[in-house]
Amino acid sequence: MSHLYIHIPFCHRRCAYCDFNTYANLEQRIDAYVDALCTELHMLAELRPAPPRSQEAAALGPTIFFGGGTPTMLSLDQFERILTAASHLVPLNQAEITSEANPGTLLDPDYLRGLRALGVNRLSMGVQSLHDPTLRMLGRIHTAAEAHQSVEHARAAGFDNLNLDFIFGLPGQSLVAWEQTLETIITWEIEHFSLYSLILEEQTPLFAQVTAGRLTIPDDDATAAMYEAAMSRLGAAGYIQYEISNWVRPNPHEPELLPTTPSRACRHNLAYWLNSDYLAAGAGAHGHHYPERYANIRGVDDYIRAVASGQLPVAERFALSAADLRAETMMMGLRLNAGVGTAHFAARCGQSLEASYGSLIDELVAQQLITYDHQRLRLTPRGRMLGNQVFARFL
Ligand code: SF4
Repeated sequence: MSHLYIHIPFCHRRCAYCDFNTYANLEQRIDAYVDALCTELHMLAELRPAPPRSQEAAALGPTIFFGGGTPTMLSLDQFERILTAASHLVPLNQAEITSEANPGTLLDPDYLRGLRALGVNRLSMGVQSLHDPTLRMLGRIHTAAEAHQSVEHARAAGFDNLNLDFIFGLPGQSLVAWEQTLETIITWEIEHFSLYSLILEEQTPLFAQVTAGRLTIPDDDATAAMYEAAMSRLGAAGYIQYEISNWVRPNPHEPELLPTTPSRACRHNLAYWLNSDYLAAGAGAHGHHYPERYANIRGVDDYIRAVASGQLPVAERFALSAADLRAETMMMGLRLNAGVGTAHFAARCGQSLEASYGSLIDELVAQQLITYDHQRLRLTPRGRMLGNQVFARFL
């Protein structure tokens, strides 16, 4: 298997908007969790190999993605143990190895140098805002200055592939403030940005504060204007938007991964958007191993107990039909500016795009929602605005 997601469900404290599977104040369980994770990775190594992939998918190479939670709460020794166990699944020396990171955990240059020396070659830092009062309101553990300092430490440690995550449409945020943020981060010369509009998840403290009227978030029009500002400012600065929420700075010396998809695009996420198979390990992790998808047990101690009993810690398995595979290949691929390649679709799904969706393609082309040149099928700008409606047509 070429792609592996590893979930680290620990954070120093929970952010006000977060509904990920992560836990604060469980630091004392990290070591036992890492042991269980290594055992699970050894069990996964015995699964049968994934079916053949398209050339597009194969060109991504192997990937490992440490997500969370806050993977950079792990010690270097814990990272090393996990990577050694993962090496039975993924060839480490050829892989893009990303770790998500909270900037508040990246203030020790030695730690960053150690992480880079272990083979982690991409950091994805959750900065979210450059406005300190907003960072405090969100419950983040870092300031804007510390986020910038983390970027500089990461550069000094040898990281030449950085992503920063930001959220727009935050409580109290104005378009002008967001544009200033964009102008500032452009000067940081980062390879990759992931920009997401705020999603208010029920059960989070932020949801409760907004619904109680204690905080006000920008309306849909204001949030759409922020998205357009991101497209125009980053575009003017030379970034390529290769996916709905993702921008990358092209490197003229490195070949594109896909059309309009420069080499520093996130290969692991591209594997998701190409609807490739991937394994996932850790509490609450979701894997995709056609013809099934699986979800692991969410609780840390339940997960550790399940692995100790000698079983894969899977809570649920979902069967995927050939029709599911085709629909998901379309829905994921249309998020990319490169769209869905006909050769990729046929190799992944065992059936041509035309045979699968011939009349629907004609209809959506006539409605100017997609373009189709028999090589690639893409959303038009209008289709992008109505993305969810187009995706639903392929279900
Ligand atoms: S650091 Fe990330 S994973 Fe942890 S609570 Fe905050 S948003 Fe959630």
